[in-house]
Amino acid sequence: MHFSAFTLARQALKGHRGWTRTWRAVEQPKESYDVVIVGGGGHGLATAYYLAKEYGIRNVAVIEKGWIGGGNVGRNTTIVRSNYLLPENNRFYEWGMKLWEGMSRDLNYNVMFSQRGVLNLAHTPAQMEGFMRRGNSMRVNGIDAELLDRDQVAAKVPGLDVSDRARFPIAGGLMQPRGGTARHDAVAWGYARGADSLGVDIIENCEVTGFLFDGDRIVGVDTVKGPVKAGKVGVAVAGNTSRVLAKAGFDRLPIESHVLQAFVSEPLKPLIDTVVTFGAGHLYISQSDKGGLVFGGDLDGYNSYAQRGNIPVIQDVAAMAVAMFPNLSRLHLLRHWGGVMDMSMDGSPIIDKSPKDGLYINAGWCYGGFKATPASGWCFAHTIARDEPHELNAAFRLDRFRTGRTLDEKGAGPVPRLH
Ligand SMILES: Cc1cc2nc3c(=O)[nH]c(=O)nc-3n(C[C@H](O)[C@H](O)[C@H](O)COP(=O)(O)OP(=O)(O)OC[C@H]3O[C@@H](n4cnc5c(N)ncnc54)[C@H](O)[C@@H]3O)c2cc1C
Repeated sequence: MHFSAFTLARQALKGHRGWTRTWRAVEQPKESYDVVIVGGGGHGLATAYYLAKEYGIRNVAVIEKGWIGGGNVGRNTTIVRSNYLLPENNRFYEWGMKLWEGMSRDLNYNVMFSQRGVLNLAHTPAQMEGFMRRGNSMRVNGIDAELLDRDQVAAKVPGLDVSDRARFPIAGGLMQPRGGTARHDAVAWGYARGADSLGVDIIENCEVTGFLFDGDRIVGVDTVKGPVKAGKVGVAVAGNTSRVLAKAGFDRLPIESHVLQAFVSEPLKPLIDTVVTFGAGHLYISQSDKGGLVFGGDLDGYNSYAQRGNIPVIQDVAAMAVAMFPNLSRLHLLRHWGGVMDMSMDGSPIIDKSPKDGLYINAGWCYGGFKATPASGWCFAHTIARDEPHELNAAFRLDRFRTGRTLDEKGAGPVPRLH
């Protein structure tokens, strides 16, 4: 079904009884596929979509342990940006930004991409210099960036405490006007619908429990619904990467799994019309279309595969929010939840072939994999179809941790929780 104003009007005249399923319910996988994607998060679904759309590979299954949208793709704070320092990162994320800009049209599904801008606050002259450097790197690579002084920040975000009495006085900020937010579960549903309409089977409630090899060549996966043969297998299971790939014989990957929480407040009248990040701690905040303030902070600080968080981080995040916006001090928190992050050693992702023939890895997304969804799927599809990385993901190789060619955007060293 093609979505349009006419479809809506036609369905309204029929009492909305003619809407069809967004994607087919495939209960049982076929015996064999050309490509199996393990993990029906944003990255897995986008990969399947681009495999079918860009490479004509349609005999594809996405095998998901739970339900579509149940992982990090439906748990994040929805921030989309391409404001990176390292050229490898800003080229990749900027390609993602271009895909975001056309996504609703391409998928014929409204992902509510809102380019409301992303503003990083600086609180010291040294931070301003760092932002100047990053902004210059962005502009040299054709990406929009604006350095704002304190008055410009105050005009952009009226609720911020920009006074000298603030706990962390604000010196200015780096703005990416084309950054913003998108409706996260719509992204999952949109890619699922797009892939399904090109013939991809999406199989939910089907955990992959093992991998089938013929020597060093992959020939399929084992699932709770039985074995499935495959010419190639792509693994995109985010926070579960170490656990899942251990079943393929990878007992040491450069990834740790950590819990990250997100929070939403009771709805307010319009207060913040951009995305703002704190520069004196780790907090990012925006306002949803329903009016709730959506925010997140640091990892909980321990390794875990549990999709739930702990109370100290709630307190920490609330304290930072009030330091930035004192007018939030009596706001009620409505909900909070956790997701499991695949934190890599250098903070950058891995999109690559694995040392095993026919097995491909997509992982290491840390805090920032939602915005990467389209570019990641696009590059992973290329890597699988052509059996070699695209130039956009040529630096995101697995062996960079052995060769020392890491991409440490923050310069934090090999400490996953700091990226
Ligand atoms: C609280 C929070 C806030 C965040 N905020 C942002 C943000 O503002 N901006 C941003 O860019 N990024 C953000 N992120 C990060 C982003 O959400 C993730 O990096 C990204 O969603 C990960 O890729 P994915 O969508 O494919 O993951 P997921 O949706 O987690 O997909 C992986 C899927 O694999 C499935 N799976 C696991 N094991 C198996 C198995 N054995 N068999 C079959 N399936 C399996 C899981 O069930 C899951 O559905 C945030 C994350 C969290 C948790």
